[in-house]
Amino acid sequence: MKDLKHIHYFTALLEDANNELVRAAKKDGGIAVGYTCYYIPEALLNVGNAFSVRLRAPKTGSLDISQYYMGSMNCSYVRALLERAFEGGYHFLDAFFSSETCQQMNRLVENIYELKLIDNGTFYHSIIDAPLKISPHGIKHYTNQIRTHFLEPLRDQFGIDISETALRNAVAEHNRMCAIFEEISELRKADNPGITATEFHILNLVSYSCPTGLILPYLEETLVELKKRKLDPKIPYRARVVVVGSEMDDYGFTELIEYCGAYVVADRYCFGSMPGRQQIPINDDEDIVEVVCRFYLETNQCPRFMSQEKVQERRDVVKALYDEYNADGIIYEQMKFCDYWGYERAVASFVLHEEMGIPTVALDREYTVQASGQLRTRVQAFVESLEIKKIQKAKNQNEGEKK
Ligand code: SF4
Repeated sequence: MKDLKHIHYFTALLEDANNELVRAAKKDGGIAVGYTCYYIPEALLNVGNAFSVRLRAPKTGSLDISQYYMGSMNCSYVRALLERAFEGGYHFLDAFFSSETCQQMNRLVENIYELKLIDNGTFYHSIIDAPLKISPHGIKHYTNQIRTHFLEPLRDQFGIDISETALRNAVAEHNRMCAIFEEISELRKADNPGITATEFHILNLVSYSCPTGLILPYLEETLVELKKRKLDPKIPYRARVVVVGSEMDDYGFTELIEYCGAYVVADRYCFGSMPGRQQIPINDDEDIVEVVCRFYLETNQCPRFMSQEKVQERRDVVKALYDEYNADGIIYEQMKFCDYWGYERAVASFVLHEEMGIPTVALDREYTVQASGQLRTRVQAFVESLEIKKIQKAKNQNEGEKK
């Protein structure tokens, strides 16, 4: 297939957290709000002239300094972010909103604040206490936290309009972006999808890393282009997989999977599109902050929720994606030293494989994955096993028909 018109521009945007569109928004008086996690309702952060940037640390190299401050037994995502903060990569941030999702994330935010790593006089940070249960009380508490820790400070510190109308406009813009992704995601269900898995990953990453209002026209144009795209006659994939797991913002991982012959049909990982790129249903009667907060809590698939019904729900969601996107197997990936995903990966991959009969492989990895030969070997072996299963199944079917 011919390259997408903007794909090289998109990959260039992913080279730096403070990318061209972020700089353009800042130049225009925008207030940059960094965040890292699905507990932070992105749709509300793009209110008025504030804009959200989900934080990455592209081209991460040595983690020596962050290791000195945080130790080596923390996930390499938080260490990479701290290292980048030491390098001065986040001076453009006006605010950093976080949740106490995990202690490692807390340590990161505290280090950034205490060591004054953001050289920006008005820099503001806040951490919310996110509920561990989804209940009417939990939703009320969460909504209150979002208002008092994020929205009101945006108004009081930066003069941002957080009126109902301004917030509704922000959610409408977010929904326009999600509608594009819902359409693009549908393409992944086809036998011969009109988009490569790596392209999808790149589009998804730029949507998180750039101001929504500025990236939207590029995404709209790309959707039109995808609908008219001339497909290659031959399908270049040997198997279709769902990827599930912890934080993943390196499209090199998807490239690696494609290189091994598999197509990623669904991305159920932190920083992926499921959840994250589905429209938020709104109505005229309820307070918009409440509606959005309830949506983010109810669709949250973080293994930090440990109640039995949430544990079961997460397995059901993965199984539903496997069925809906016609996958052959599941890759469970986990960032090393991530406790939540460590437990989830070990148990869920066993249950899906042994009890639900779905071919599943479990992998652990570092923040940057592209150069990992070991990972490549594991994925290659899994793809081969899926292909053998498919060949065997087709053979059995043929023999059955002959009889
Ligand atoms: S990958 Fe795990 S340990 Fe790292 S920030 Fe996310 S939840 Fe925390």
